[in-house]
Amino acid sequence: MAENCIFCKIIHGEIPSEKVYEDEKMLVVCDVAPAAPVHVLLLPKQHTDDVVTASSELLRHMMSKVKLIAEKTGVVEKGFRLVINTGEEGGQTVKHLHIHLLGGKVLGWPPC
Ligand code: AMP
Repeated sequence: MAENCIFCKIIHGEIPSEKVYEDEKMLVVCDVAPAAPVHVLLLPKQHTDDVVTASSELLRHMMSKVKLIAEKTGVVEKGFRLVINTGEEGGQTVKHLHIHLLGGKVLGWPPC
């Protein structure tokens, strides 16, 4: 558990969250400030800063659950978007790897 990491605190139950899915490697929770009708965050249970520091095994596991999570949140048929903000210029505000899954409406593009 990394010190002062809000996602580590969510994973350890120190901050409340709305859980969507959980397995041995990952927790999926609703984003507290949703940017779309469906906006959940895929959080690895073991702290890693970002997609650059994450192992390929962890990333493979997280991606392998995307279809299931999209089904659970009701967006698999109409479509959805995955976002991994990375680093300062990439807009990452919480330094604990997370994959945003957004959907439930037609999403705009480009995002910047
Ligand atoms: P990013 O800007 O990619 O680092 O995304 C961080 C995300 O975490 C934002 O979408 C925030 O709304 C979300 N967030 C921050 N605190 C919480 C929390 N306590 N529970 C759920 N989502 C959170």
